[in-house]
Amino acid sequence: MMNKSIEASEENLLHIYNRFPIAFEHGEGMYLYDENSKKYLDFGAGFAVSALGYGNKKLAKALKKQIDLLYHTSNLYYHKNCAEAAEKLNQYAQMDKIFFTNSGAEAIEGALKTARRYAYNKKSGKYQFIAMENSFHGRTFGALSVTGHEAYRTPFEPLVPGVSFAEFNNIESVKKLVTDRTCAIILEPIQGEGGIHPATQEFMETVRKLCDEKDILLIFDEVQCGMGRSGSMFAWQGYGVKPDILAMAKGIGSGIPVGAFAVTKKVAENSLKPGDHGATYGGNPLACKAVKTVLDIFEEEDILGHVKEITPYLEDKLDSLTEELDCVLERRGKGLIQGIVLKQPVAEVCTKAMEEGLLVIQAQGNVLRLVPPLIVEKEHVDEMIEKLKKALR
Ligand SMILES: *Cc1c(COP(=O)(O)O)cnc(C)c1O
Repeated sequence: MMNKSIEASEENLLHIYNRFPIAFEHGEGMYLYDENSKKYLDFGAGFAVSALGYGNKKLAKALKKQIDLLYHTSNLYYHKNCAEAAEKLNQYAQMDKIFFTNSGAEAIEGALKTARRYAYNKKSGKYQFIAMENSFHGRTFGALSVTGHEAYRTPFEPLVPGVSFAEFNNIESVKKLVTDRTCAIILEPIQGEGGIHPATQEFMETVRKLCDEKDILLIFDEVQCGMGRSGSMFAWQGYGVKPDILAMAKGIGSGIPVGAFAVTKKVAENSLKPGDHGATYGGNPLACKAVKTVLDIFEEEDILGHVKEITPYLEDKLDSLTEELDCVLERRGKGLIQGIVLKQPVAEVCTKAMEEGLLVIQAQGNVLRLVPPLIVEKEHVDEMIEKLKKALR
């Protein structure tokens, strides 16, 4: 089934991804269409990115208008879009100051640097990070250094020094690693790539308490679970446990490459100073138009309300599937970030599902990950279940 796009890609691109043999041409709502006009129901959203699905008219119109007007100036100057996007994002995230990046990994880099800068400012001599096993924070050196998968890290060592890994949801294991040199703890409130593991309420609360006692900064990586996906705007709000630094990306641009990290006032006043950090493209007028417009649409269409409404339906259907089929062992997740643990190899199921016209993603631990656009309706859930059943058989 080789076509021109596939052949030319394999000939010219570095072979880093084992891609499915499809090339998509356009999208509409919950569906993607390939070059042969075959239709696919998308429960992967391009790794939890396309929060508003495909072909959103309001977003496309705003972006087109911005392209005609201006799409780059640099951070030497101010821009209205940047101001508006930052104001909105601060409101929704309940944070005080934002730095825009181009990706999730870059948001993590900024978060780690901010923590080191905070320690430097206080002359505390702190530099160590505690991260979680099974975590994923991105592919750049800093982000990779705190990623809890040895196979990802080993080929690139030595990495950033001073990182140790605790068991997720095990507070004793975190406490054991704390030293008087610990500057920050980083975790995903809901581990995504690692196999859809939500943090327990108790773990979140005790980690926060530990950080407060020892003046350790708490970094939440909400690159995947943030932006409405968990049923609250940011997953931390569902726990009522606030971080000092919050990393975001994926859904915040709903497909336009943009990320950010946000900090509290305390951190802002005691960390990065002019000259310490930067990003040439970070927060450019087009990316910020995307963030602002996506947030406007969240408001106008009550996307968060919709996520809350559709979640029990999805969870119910997945629980029934788990009961019905022996090959489905367990469901885990929160809101529209769900995983089912399978007996058979997940990669094969993903391929079979694709043949049925359903896109789903693999996660670690033989988990099939469901992270649909947040606009998913009951009829899509039904269609997904039907197709998934066929793929599992
Ligand atoms: C995807 C992801 C990242 C990395 O984001 P990129 O945009 O690919 O750099 C970081 N953290 C989490 C939790 C992610 O899911």
